[in-house]
Amino acid sequence: MDDPKVIYLDNNATSRVAPEVAEGMKPFFTELYGNPSSMHFFGGGVQRPLDEARQKVAALLGASPEEIIFTSCGTESDSTAIWSALRAYPEKKHLVTTAVEHPAVLNLCKFLETQGCRVTYLPVDGDGRLNLEDLKLAVSAETALVSIMWANNETGVVFPVEEAARIVHAKGALFHTDAVQAAGKLPINLKDTKIDMLSISGHKLHAPKGIGVLFLRKGARFSPFMMGGHQERGRRAGTENVPAIVGFGMACELASAEMPENAALMGRLQRRLMAELPKKIEHVYLNGHPQKRVPNNVNFSVEFVEGEGMMLLLDGKGISVSSGSACASKSLKMSHVLTAIKADPAIGQGSIIMSLSKHNGDEDVDYLLAEFPPIVKKLRDMSPIYNYFQKTGQRQKAGPGTDYEHEHN
Ligand code: PLP
Repeated sequence: MDDPKVIYLDNNATSRVAPEVAEGMKPFFTELYGNPSSMHFFGGGVQRPLDEARQKVAALLGASPEEIIFTSCGTESDSTAIWSALRAYPEKKHLVTTAVEHPAVLNLCKFLETQGCRVTYLPVDGDGRLNLEDLKLAVSAETALVSIMWANNETGVVFPVEEAARIVHAKGALFHTDAVQAAGKLPINLKDTKIDMLSISGHKLHAPKGIGVLFLRKGARFSPFMMGGHQERGRRAGTENVPAIVGFGMACELASAEMPENAALMGRLQRRLMAELPKKIEHVYLNGHPQKRVPNNVNFSVEFVEGEGMMLLLDGKGISVSSGSACASKSLKMSHVLTAIKADPAIGQGSIIMSLSKHNGDEDVDYLLAEFPPIVKKLRDMSPIYNYFQKTGQRQKAGPGTDYEHEHN
């Protein structure tokens, strides 16, 4: 019997560790298991691989190795950046961010509001784009930090962070960007930018989970989040996760070398999905700007069906995707990102997110295009709102149970 088909289209949630990365990490569990702080043979044996990994990460970002701080994940890097700015400038009690950041930034900002901090959440337009005029108006002498993501994890929309950083610097605040969904998909060259801090995460680019990086520009004021030992030049205490750091270095090296080829492959599959799905399924709407997005993301709202239902039935066919809406205790919850782009709740409830990687191919798109339309038909046939639409040509309004709190990877 053939193996059941498995198609993984949820790479924004996490990605497969590249086989060569997994292989390259192995000796660091069983042979080269020293603590880099130790003075003996075992400690010395891991220092060089650590230095090399730091260089490889720096090369992907166009940074210098001393500007790379290893952390445990993207969330820790985001937290470190925000807490650090507030501690480094204790007289400044204002933060600026966007309404569509990952919860790693948004939930910390919400907490900080309860601690006397003022936070401005910049809006986005219907295509998920930021207006830099809003940023100019928001930043003042009170602002400690502006944190704006490079690419959105749900819509894939890319923000003009280099320009934003210039604006913010001219006004005397620090600038941080969450580049977790941009690294490895878009070229990044921090050298000639005014970006002070940048977060990335290993498991989004074919390295393991549990490793992240905070880029910290030389000379930028900093106050550590984790205090203790002298690791990472006193900027992040805690024994280094050597196997994961080595793996992250290898994954960054691969990403640098393969970027043009990977971006071309994913972009081609993305364009196929964006062009061909609407031909096979009626009443579907693209979320996010059609061009100003990373090459691996497709986010559609499918009218008259719920995202979760589609996700479960696709899962039954071996296709893993994600949704920007979820059902919880009788109410429909649309993600904060769909809410911010002012998606119609009646349509946004059917959001489906497909995120590609270098491991996908045309055969995956063919399979999805064959399996998805009958699933939508099946769900629509069971839907009273679709039947009403079929009979009357009228759309019903979303019910009073609609709210917007669903969180997303
Ligand atoms: N920022 C963005 C944009 C993300 O998509 C994610 C994870 O989904 C994170 C931060 C958090 O990264 P991690 O899972 O490494 O904590």
